[in-house]
Amino acid sequence: MYKKIMIILLAVVLMGMITGCDVLNKADDKAANKESPAEPASGDSDEGGTSNMTTDNHQVELPEESLQKGDNGDAVQQLQAFLIVLGYPIEKTSKYDEKTVWAITDFQLQQDSLDNTGIYDEAVRSKLLAAQEGALTFEVEKGLPLVETKQTDRGSEITGNPYEILVLVNKHHALPEDFIPEDLVIPEIRFPFTEDLPKKQMRKVAADAIEEMFAAADKEGLTLFGQSGYRSYDRQVAIFAANVEKNGEEAANTYSARPGESEHQSGLTMDVTNAEVGFDLVIAFGDTPEGKWLQEHAAEYGFIIRYPETKVDITEYQYEPWHIRYVGKKAATEIMEKGISLEEYLDGLK
Ligand SMILES: [Zn+2]
Repeated sequence: MYKKIMIILLAVVLMGMITGCDVLNKADDKAANKESPAEPASGDSDEGGTSNMTTDNHQVELPEESLQKGDNGDAVQQLQAFLIVLGYPIEKTSKYDEKTVWAITDFQLQQDSLDNTGIYDEAVRSKLLAAQEGALTFEVEKGLPLVETKQTDRGSEITGNPYEILVLVNKHHALPEDFIPEDLVIPEIRFPFTEDLPKKQMRKVAADAIEEMFAAADKEGLTLFGQSGYRSYDRQVAIFAANVEKNGEEAANTYSARPGESEHQSGLTMDVTNAEVGFDLVIAFGDTPEGKWLQEHAAEYGFIIRYPETKVDITEYQYEPWHIRYVGKKAATEIMEKGISLEEYLDGLK
């Protein structure tokens, strides 16, 4: 009799477990297949310990290390799988490719607390996890629409992701005509003028870095000045036209960029100078203590000397020891240590 009761009880418990699992699995499938990832998935959180454990077993994990363009391997594939579950139309290539950069940038542009870089890091990781739990809202392509590559009249490729901090802007790669960075701020650094001109601006991520860099230079007794940062497309139209008027088109393009092809429109650059050269932008700046310190330490803050003396044939610009460009610490360190150009660095990632 006692044995019989035990068997019945056991059967009831087992039935309950099977049913419970079934219900939970259905909830999971719904979460994984939902068409609108912006909508919080109902019913897969706040259901107590058992539910969370079961959900975790089905979740795609997110890598813990930072990842960026050109990186390869399982961690990248893990990230791509996660982005696909969130609804991003990308492929699991195991390579941090253009589309992965785009997906991360699109996501970042919809979260105020995140820098817009295209780089996956700890801050992005925690927001992606929150998105999966439905704790924050976003919509695929709302931050940065996925566009087909277009060309300018002169055949330069127009980038679809002007927010990426590794964006290439040169005589063959342009920014969209209507690109005005939405995260421009005025860095708290020294300028040789007091007016609040638009050219004081940089994108937030670069502004934070340049503030840190100027502070470090100050500690060494060096006095850097910012001279010219962000420049709009329209302003570049006027500048280039004036230079063409003065020197002819071909000569003008050796030192002045065509509209859309100026890195200054990216918001990631600043021309820096010092008192010794009269706050001018001249090659002699490279031989001053400030210019030398910059060459030596810019990478520690994520900046590169964009137009090196030895790479004129590749950059197609004369040596500009004053023009610094933010690319993030990882890329900057490799570029400056190897003494290569941004063009060569990006070629190496392909
Ligand atoms: Zn410049």
